[in-house]
Parts: sequence; structure tokens; C-alpha cells
Amino acid sequence: MAKKRINRRTFLGTSAAFGVAASTSLATAAPKDKQKQSFKVGKSYKEPARVLPARQFDVVVAGAGTAGAVAAIAAARQGAKTVLIELKGYPCGAVTEGGTNLHSFFNIHQPFDGVKKRQIVRGIPQQIIDRLIKIGGTTGHGVMIAGHRDSHCTVVDTELFKLVVFEMLAEAGVYVCMNTQLVEAITDGPRIRGVIAESRAGREVFWAKIFIDCTGYGDLAAFAGANFTEPNDHRVCNSMGMGNVDVDRIYQYLEERNGISEAAKGRRSGEEGKIIRIQGKYAKMPKGFKKEARKAGLQSATTSLHENHLMFVKANLKLSVSPTDRDAVSKAELELRKRQFRVLELYKKYFPGCEKAYIARTAPRLNIRRGRLIQCDYIITHEDVIGARHFNDDVFVFSYHDDSKFKVKNGGTYGIPYRALLPKGIENLLVAGMMITADRRAHQSTRNTVSCMCQGQAVGTAAALCAQKKNSTRELKYSDLREALEKSDVYFEA
Ligand SMILES: Cc1cc2nc3c(=O)[nH]c(=O)nc-3n(C[C@H](O)[C@H](O)[C@H](O)COP(=O)(O)OP(=O)(O)OC[C@H]3O[C@@H](n4cnc5c(N)ncnc54)[C@H](O)[C@@H]3O)c2cc1C
Repeated sequence: MAKKRINRRTFLGTSAAFGVAASTSLATAAPKDKQKQSFKVGKSYKEPARVLPARQFDVVVAGAGTAGAVAAIAAARQGAKTVLIELKGYPCGAVTEGGTNLHSFFNIHQPFDGVKKRQIVRGIPQQIIDRLIKIGGTTGHGVMIAGHRDSHCTVVDTELFKLVVFEMLAEAGVYVCMNTQLVEAITDGPRIRGVIAESRAGREVFWAKIFIDCTGYGDLAAFAGANFTEPNDHRVCNSMGMGNVDVDRIYQYLEERNGISEAAKGRRSGEEGKIIRIQGKYAKMPKGFKKEARKAGLQSATTSLHENHLMFVKANLKLSVSPTDRDAVSKAELELRKRQFRVLELYKKYFPGCEKAYIARTAPRLNIRRGRLIQCDYIITHEDVIGARHFNDDVFVFSYHDDSKFKVKNGGTYGIPYRALLPKGIENLLVAGMMITADRRAHQSTRNTVSCMCQGQAVGTAAALCAQKKNSTRELKYSDLREALEKSDVYFEA
């Protein structure tokens, strides 16, 4: 059958909502003849300039991870012509690759006498959960029965999570470019005018009015000249799924040794009241286990959504340099894979019901807890978090701290201010996700998945409004943003 030829004009006029269409046509349009050039093989190479195909959007979102996918949905729902650029082949990033469970849709009420339980995170994150509940893709908001870090535990089926969010992106009309890496920013003084991205279809330019960096690492902000630091103060990790494990027997074994530090019950394989989260106490385990588990960087918190399956089991490693160092990361990728198999052996040896366990899933690349930290107009502090502080430009509220020693005052909420999402010195860039909040302890709250998703909804909404009103990010009227967020079911109570 003869192939239909697509020329550039046809491509630009008729491309569909998905980047796949663009890939085909760009490949066809790419020049076949390479110019002869003169160069010397040495320690550097001067790349020749070339003309790139370009297209125009209102909003560019870089990174379709935890924050970015939600940002793109929010921007498109608000009416902005939105493109989402993601280097992997699916959305949702670390929430489907690294985390244990989604902290925290609720305020932490248990440690505070008389504090009423409230659902404080709503909006797009809750819509994702609602859709997952319908198809058996989450434990729902299971209740903690031990431990006081959180009041609920929300475990998601990582594959269904990716699918549901992918579908929501399509429904919102986002132009999705998967397997595409953002590699450069085109700047004009304090404004970004466009970005350059690369895929197998070649290099291309996306012009836009407003840009959002949700790459986790802050790639776009760094390319655009934002100030950043790289604290390298957390371990990196490859988090795996484990099959052929008897979750109830693991729980029972730990309980008999008084070795449970955290546990939650919820819906597992469709049945309510089952164990869905277990965190063990290292100290209560046999000596041999403790020694080997520490060496492998095993983190004892794990979750289960399906019978005979642990969703996340983590092997960690501390790098001596920042995770932006390619060579160090390449070595770490191998070391983490070795550690995963050592962890598997420990489960097989020590936990009853795990004798025939196997690794069911690994992350495609190691996950980080923070890479670059982008300097924004406001840096959220630990005092802001635990002091339950609110700001006159709050874009949502949150109430969770990863370190069980710290709780938000009186079981209330704290606010995330809009200005904490604005990189200093750049007029039309917003950031969301683990790259905000320099204060290490405050970051242990703001980096959590559900906060990242809420940040995504805030920046996506703000970006669309800025594009519509021809505002820079700092010119946007807070009352307009607040109204749009409230209409989209974002919760703001102290
Ligand atoms: C091991 C581990 C365990 C954790 N456990 C929990 C937990 O139990 N509960 C919890 O709430 N939080 C947990 N967290 C924290 C939480 O998962 C992360 O902070 C959060 O998911 C980060 O979201 P993000 O959107 O900033 O980044 P990501 O979700 O990583 O998204 C970034 C996306 O950008 C893409 N990208 C990167 N660079 C480019 C580029 N140049 N071009 C195009 N695309 C690019 C990536 O492929 C990725 O999809 C954990 C984190 C880790 C690492």
C-alpha cells in the first residue's frame, strides 16, 4: 500500500492533539543531506547552527511528572493551548516510581485531641483518586491503625494511575509530547520566548507566552538562567514492586515481635479492612537482617494494593555528588540494582510467605528526593509549615510532615504562597514540585506527592490566566487566581 506523504504545511495545519502525529511528520521533513563541514577531533566541538521547525502555544509545561501532568490538565481546562513535554513514555513520574503512598489528603488529626478530621486536598488530585476508585486502582483513603505521621494512607496502582492521568490529559486537550526531552531555553532578557526539545523526530522549538518547569530537577529554570543550589542532602533510590509475597504473614511476623511502627487498613484486591501499609521497626528484626538491610539501604515502609504484591520496596544510596552528575548516577544505577536483589534475598530469607518472592517492577531510572533547588521569590520555612502560617497569596493549603517529630500546629493547615512558585528574575516562568523550598525540613512537607500535585494545579491555572490576560506571572491579580482555584474545588481553610 502506498504511504501518504505529509509535507510540512499539511503537518502544521492538521496535527492531532497528540505529539505522535508531530513525530511522524517531523521525521519526514528532516533534511536528508548533511553539509560537509570542517572540524578537528579534540576536546570540544562547535555545533553548526541549524534551522528548527517551530510551533506556538500559550503554555509550555516541561515534565509530565507528579506536578507537571496536573499542571497541564489545569492549564488546558482553563482554556490555554498547552503543550506537555516529557522525556519518558508515560506521565506521573515519581508518584508512580518512587513513593510509598500519597501523603496526605487529610489534616493529621490523630495526635491532636479534639481536632476534627477534614479533607483538605481536593481539586484535580482527588478527581484522579475518584477515577481510580471506580476501576480498582487505589486502596482509597485507608485509615492508619498505627503510627501518627499521617491520618490516612492512599496507595495507588501505579500502572492505572499513569493510564488515568494520560486519559485526563487527552480529555483536557493537552498536546502531549512523550519521549521528548527539553534541552534548551530561548531567552530574551528576563523572559523566556521558547524552548528547544529533542525526540527521535529531531530538534524543534515550542514558542509560548508562559512556561512551567515541573522537571523535578529544574532543567528549564536552569537553562533559563534561574539561580539554584544543589544540596545533595538526601539518598537516591530505585523503588521496586515485589510479587509472590504474603502481606498478612509479613504483618503478623512483625506484630508478633512488636515490630510495627506504622500500619494502615483499606481496600486490597477489592476487599475492605485489609493491611495496605506496613512500616517495620528495624530494631525488632534479627541481627543478620538489620545488618544486611542497612547495607542495602532498605527503607522499611511498604504498601500493598493487590494480594501477594508489595507496591513499593526501596533500596537507597547516598551519592557523594549531586544527582545531576551523569557519571556518578550511571554508577549508582548499577549499585541500586544490585541492592534491590540483596533486599529481595532478605525478604525471601526472613519473612514467612516470601520464600518465592520476585522483583515485579523497577523504576526506569533512579529517583531523587531533591536535585536542583530553584531560588524563588519566597522560600517556605519550617516555621511556616509547623506554625500553620497562611499568606495573602495562598494557592492551596497542606498539612503533613514527612518527619514524624513534626506536626502542623493544632492539626491545622499551612498555606503555599504563589510567590514560592515564581523563580527570581524571570517574568514568565512558574515552577512546581520537589524543586521548590530550600529549607530542608520544610521541603519534607512540600515535596510530598499530593503537595506537588496541588502546586501543579496552582501553576497550571496561573499560567493559563497569565496567557489569557497577557500578564507576566507577577502581574497576575491574586483575586483572579484565587477565584479560578476555588471554582476548581481547591480548599483554602486554615
Ligand atoms: C524514593 C522516594 C520515595 C518517596 N516516597 C514518598 C511517599 O511515600 N509519599 C509522598 O507523598 N512522597 C514521596 N516522595 C516524594 C515525591 O514522590 C516527590 O517529591 C514528587 O513525586 C516529585 O514530583 P515532581 O513533579 O517534582 O517530580 P517527578 O514526579 O519526578 O516529575 C518530573 C518529570 O519530569 C520529567 N523530566 C525531567 N527532566 C526533563 C526534561 N529535561 N525534559 C522533559 N521531561 C523531563 C521526568 O521524566 C518526570 O516525569 C518520595 C520520593 C522518592 C524519590
